[in-house]
Amino acid sequence: MRLILLGPPGAGKGTQASGIMNKYNVPHISTGDIFRKNIKEGTELGKKAKEYMDQGLLVPDELVVNLVKDRLTEDDCKKGFLLDGFPRTVAQAEALDIELNNLGWSLDKIINIEVSKDILVERAVGRRICKNCGATYHVKFNPPKISGECDVCGGQLYQRDDDNEETVAKRIDVYQNQTAPLINYYKEKAILANIDGYNDINKVFDDIVEVLGSEN
Ligand code: ADP
Ligand code: ADP
Ligand code: ZN
Repeated sequence: MRLILLGPPGAGKGTQASGIMNKYNVPHISTGDIFRKNIKEGTELGKKAKEYMDQGLLVPDELVVNLVKDRLTEDDCKKGFLLDGFPRTVAQAEALDIELNNLGWSLDKIINIEVSKDILVERAVGRRICKNCGATYHVKFNPPKISGECDVCGGQLYQRDDDNEETVAKRIDVYQNQTAPLINYYKEKAILANIDGYNDINKVFDDIVEVLGSEN
């Protein structure tokens, strides 16, 4: 299955991605995670991306597109993939279409997770991530059993630099201006499924499975 997860920052894309990845056995490709890994490792790409990420702005298309193109040619993507946080601009979506066409592939579904703005800020600001395995928690909506510690691996939880109120507000604006136009882009291709992301995590997952079908 070849899928895209679309939705504003804090909508629950990463949270749902791990369930989808397990159920449908497809690699989860998060461009945000790839950039954060590069920042941690101090690569040139990481240094460039950080300048934009810290301001809540999008990293320039040319830096993102080549990275995703390379990733899609890795062996594990032959069985399908789940893109999370890419594409984020119409130019990225067009570049993806060209690349998929070259590979002889097409997209099965775009899962668009819809959540209103006031809730997004609370979700993103309360987000905590495991330093070790990347599992995502929320201080209020999905707390770990032991405060500050990952349920899965015992790793330490941290808050992303860009998950402060000011940067989240900026990212939501950027989403509205640059990413939301993709909803129409994919609606016209008739592969868009809207999911109400306001519901609790399990209900959102059930709704996604209903759209994708329970067979993997
Ligand atoms: P995204 O990848 O879209 O930015 P995340 O999946 O990281 O979003 O979720 C943002 C925050 O909201 C996390 O702290 C997560 O635990 C929490 N969260 C995700 N889905 C829900 C939900 N349905 N209800 C309440 N909190 C949620
Ligand atoms: P969220 O889902 O909470 O917005 P991500 O982890 O997807 O967070 O992205 C974090 C940041 O990484 C974005 O604010 C942006 O600066 C950068 N980024 C991630 N994916 C892309 C992309 N496809 N195009 C441009 N910038 C990106
Ligand atoms: Zn962990």
